[in-house]
This record gives sequence, C-alpha cells and structure tokens, in this order.
Amino acid sequence: MNSIQDLIEFARIDTTSAKGKGEEGAKFIRDYMQEHGIEARIIRHRSKNPYVYGEINVGATKTLLIYNHYDVQPAEPLDKWNSDPFDPVIKDGKLVGRGVGDDKGSLMARLQALIEMGKPPMNIKFIYEGEEEIGSPNIDLFLAEHRELLASDYVLWEGAGRGSSGAPTIVLGVKGLLYVEISVRTQKDLHSMYAPVAKNPAWELVYLLSSLKSGGRVNLPGFYDKVKWLTEEERRYLKGNKRSMEDALGQELPDDFQRRLVEEPTCNIAGLYSGYTGEGSKTVIPSYAMAKLDFRLVPDQDPDEILKILQDHLKGVDIKVWGKVRPYRTSINSKIAKSLMDSAKKVYGVDPEVIPNSYGTGPMESFARILQNNQIADGVGVEHPGSNIHSFNENIYVDDYMKAKEWMKSFVRHLAQP
Ligand SMILES: [Zn+2]
Repeated sequence: MNSIQDLIEFARIDTTSAKGKGEEGAKFIRDYMQEHGIEARIIRHRSKNPYVYGEINVGATKTLLIYNHYDVQPAEPLDKWNSDPFDPVIKDGKLVGRGVGDDKGSLMARLQALIEMGKPPMNIKFIYEGEEEIGSPNIDLFLAEHRELLASDYVLWEGAGRGSSGAPTIVLGVKGLLYVEISVRTQKDLHSMYAPVAKNPAWELVYLLSSLKSGGRVNLPGFYDKVKWLTEEERRYLKGNKRSMEDALGQELPDDFQRRLVEEPTCNIAGLYSGYTGEGSKTVIPSYAMAKLDFRLVPDQDPDEILKILQDHLKGVDIKVWGKVRPYRTSINSKIAKSLMDSAKKVYGVDPEVIPNSYGTGPMESFARILQNNQIADGVGVEHPGSNIHSFNENIYVDDYMKAKEWMKSFVRHLAQP
C-alpha cells in the first residue's frame, strides 16, 4: 500500500455530487476496503449517490463509527487552478487536487491507518456519504432506516485538521440554524405623496428588524434562556489566531473573537429587499418589503422554540421558514473528547485547540438523536487553514496526511482503553 498514491487514485475520480457524479467513487472505496480485508458494501437508498458501509468486527465491547463523505464540490472555475483538479499533483510538499482536503484525504488517512493496524483494539464501522456537499438531504431518513446497523458508542466526524494556531483541532459540536423570510405587504404601490397617511411596508420592516437587536444582543424575550455558556475548561482550550482570522475576514476583530464565535447565538440579516432599486429616482411607496434572517443557534437552543418566540414578537407578520437545524455539543469531559485530546498531544507535541461547537451548522444532532449517541466529535483530519476547501487549488500537506494517520492510530488506542 502506497498511501499517498492510493489517495491520488481516489481523488482522480470526479465525485461532484452537484453534477450527479459519485457512483464510481463509491465503488472505488468499497473495492479498496474489500481488497484490504474489510467487509464493505454499497447501500442504495433514495439518495442519488449510494452510501458505502464497512465494518471491522474484532469482537470488542465498544464500537467506533467513522463518518466521512466521498463527494466533492464543483471544481469550477477551472482556469483558476494551477493544475488539473482531477489529476492531483505533489508540489512543494503539498498534494493539490479537488477533494484532497474535503473529504477524501481524511477518509483515506483514517482508513489506511486502521488497515495498517491490522486488528484495531475496538470494533470499527464506516459510513461514507455521497451527498454531503449538496446538504445531506437524505441523511436523517438514512440514519433512521439503519439505526441497528450504525449502532455505536462513539462517532468520529468528517475530519478537522490543523487550525489557525497551527495546532490540531478538535470540534465537539455544531451550531444550529433557523432560517426565515419575513415580509410586509399592502395592496399596491402608491405615489409617495400619500406618505403622510399611507402605510409603508419598507418602514414597517425596518422598525421590526431594529426591534430584534440592540448592540450585539438579540432582543427577543427568552432568546438566551437555554444558552449553555462555555465552562472554564471549555474556554481554556480555545486558541485561534487573531491576525490570521482578521486576514481571512478582511476586518478588525475583538480580542475575545474566538469565544464569541463559538458561544454566541446570532440574528443575522442575510437579505433585504423593497421598493425601487433601479437607476435614478422613483417617488413611490412600495407595496412589499422582505428580509431573510438566519439565526445561528447554540446548545441548547431549539429552533422550534426560537421560531415561536419570533412569531409572538412579530405578531401578524408573514414568516416563511426555510430551514431548521438543531445545535449539538459533546462534553469536553467525555471519553471521545479526552481520547482525541490526549492522542493529539502525543502525536503533535502541542495542546490541541478544542472548539466546543463549530461556528457553522451541520447534521451532527441528527446522528446524536437518531442513533442515540452522545459522544460525537471531530478531529483526525488532514486540512490546514490554507487548504482552500470548496475553492480552487485545494491542497493538503503530505506531512499532515502522515500525521493524521498516526493520530488515528493513537486515538483508537486511547479510546479502546477502559
Ligand atoms: Zn465540504
């Protein structure tokens, strides 16, 4: 087994789920597992791309479920790449190609580590998805229909690598989401001379929006009631590099940016529309005003409860719901968190950066709720802050790939200890 060469073979297969590709990648990884003595099969489901399931049963009492995805984002714009995205090359210690960071590299590094171990000290199950990059539209149903098959004590998420501080990163959860569209209407557009007496939906919307927040705080009554603020210990492992984050965002940040990104729920205006926005002037009272809002929710906020609070606050206003995801967080004192932290320190020689929940959203809570598992964590990944995932010239350091394999072996050994 030449580990990097095998990853290159895998990354040569175009598995862009947005274009309906993936089948060939699923077969590749199933065959790869079988060739290395791992029981594996393709599971067809209503999803376009099949799932790949694998298992190493050593008769242990504990089981680790490993989740990865084999699909990738579209490689376009192709002219921005310095090499063919589907013909990966190694240059200056980096492997460049679509999917090497997200998520084929992590998938392969973990798989190869376990193959090299021969007989791992605990049972391993693998579940590989083929439509993560289009939002995992079928994952809840798939999990519900395969609850027994996927039963496990721990779940290892898709693969956090090195963070902005250079240290390996461990992520213990995700934020949730409530996405709504609110709109105000009247019967028709009017000449603006009627403004002294006529309703203006644009103003109404602006008043409503400004009632939602003051300063950095969300004004909805009860909005913060269920927020689990970070504990002393959770704060201790936050790192983050302010300079590199400022560079990434193109603006200055407060010193406690990392804590706030992790623990604060948000109310964000994502879109705003009303009236005449063309060239020149038009004196009109618009009949329609609309805003799109996303609320990033933190443990233990519930999108249904927040929606109820919002409806009560915006009485009579039209609210359309576009998305709801629940937040999730595994305890920093759990066995899986401790095993990831201890093994990371052993392999990398530095304290890892532990992020109690990511700034963004993902379907982790589905795994927790449907599989009834409260030890789900992310780590043992291959990416670095400059990996350009979802962008052009996606890359990983070959060295990080090798380190991730060592991390995987050490992690499983720690996790299997009683
Ligand atoms: Zn991705």
